[in-house]
Amino acid sequence: MSGNGHTRKKSSELYRRACELLPAGVNSPVRAYGAVPGDPLFVERGEGAYLWDADGQKYLDCCGSWGPLILGHGHPTVLEAVNGAVARGMTFGAPCEAEITLAELVIESYPAVEMVRFVSSGTEAVMSAVRLARGFTGRDLIVKFTGCYHGHSDALLVAGGSGLATFGVSSSAGVTAGTVADTVVVPLDDEQVLRDLFAERGGDIAAILLEPLPANSGLLKQRPEYLAFLRQITREHGALLIFDEVISGFRVGLAGAEGLYGVSPDLATFGKIIGGGMPVGAFGGRREIMERLAPLGDVYQAGTLSGNPVAMAAGAAAMRVLREENVHDKLEALGQRLEAVVAPAAAEAGIAFVRQGSIFWLGTGPEAPRQVESVDADAMPRYGRLQEAALERGVYLAPSGWEVGFLNAAMTEDDVDHLAAVLAELVKS
Ligand SMILES: *Cc1c(COP(=O)(O)O)cnc(C)c1O
Repeated sequence: MSGNGHTRKKSSELYRRACELLPAGVNSPVRAYGAVPGDPLFVERGEGAYLWDADGQKYLDCCGSWGPLILGHGHPTVLEAVNGAVARGMTFGAPCEAEITLAELVIESYPAVEMVRFVSSGTEAVMSAVRLARGFTGRDLIVKFTGCYHGHSDALLVAGGSGLATFGVSSSAGVTAGTVADTVVVPLDDEQVLRDLFAERGGDIAAILLEPLPANSGLLKQRPEYLAFLRQITREHGALLIFDEVISGFRVGLAGAEGLYGVSPDLATFGKIIGGGMPVGAFGGRREIMERLAPLGDVYQAGTLSGNPVAMAAGAAAMRVLREENVHDKLEALGQRLEAVVAPAAAEAGIAFVRQGSIFWLGTGPEAPRQVESVDADAMPRYGRLQEAALERGVYLAPSGWEVGFLNAAMTEDDVDHLAAVLAELVKS
């Protein structure tokens, strides 16, 4: 269907079949290629830095299953742990040692977490952390930010209204006005709007919730002083600070954004990397807060498959590799290598190349934005053309210009050089 011999014959056939059975042929909306040309690629297998589509074409995988695959596909240590765990049983619904192992790894890595509870997705982790923050503080209001994504739980499917600090408006059909009435939405990087809000409603605010390194509407790197300000204003008013580190946790360093910026939240949420490719989420924080969870405390939270032994084994194996093999240093070096080529080419095209470690994003204008309001939505069709042309050159990027790209530890310098050459060429076209 397109140049360079690239074909989607088999993928398109599968897509047509899938569309009869699954809404839009997918089980998560952005996979449906609504924001880029062509039918979605169906993936047959992944190995190391690469994946292969149903038509047998090979791509350098810069999507990494949207973040989990920091070690690439099928890292031998992770596979061995999974195979060993599967042989002993897929689920018990009773405690198992693997839960302790992963908990120790998380708690040793992330200073603000003294106790942790495992769940099965990032959505569940944030939903539960919000409930816990409300239960612990006895307050109702949650403050969240435009441009931050926290999964698809009802209370967080909320958009800002027209004013600066507005009570949320449901951003999905099926989410009632009542459900989002206790969520206030504000722009990032604006201290005054929060000062005013806390002056007026400080005693009602349970928590500020944010991605400390927002990476779901482009890569909106925040000023460290702003994060310190959030820490200070929440402390002053007895509210909690929740870092949603589902995408940044274990990605930008073992201590995530907490380590990167030196600002410690009361609660943190994790997902993606923490499961080593299996469905795992987690939330954790100060002991006195976590001990409010059922059955110790009065905040209910549960899960049939939570702490699943296979998923725990995968996560622990991935975490051990991250700790023992200096993965983040290697990824930073690869990131610098990519940036050295792509940033100047992008600048020539009037576009900022934004990067933090192994996360990268092509902006829509010359400045790296700190607020989603500064991202130019009209530039997204241009990204669609770039994504399509990259596929023809053997590079698989996320099918939306709002999404970041990821390097992984299975990539070689040659892989990154190829990626750099492709992006440098296409960003100018
Ligand atoms: C991906 C993501 C979520 C949702 O996690 P799921 O596992 O998709 O439910 C929540 N918060 C952030 C910051 C994320 O990047």
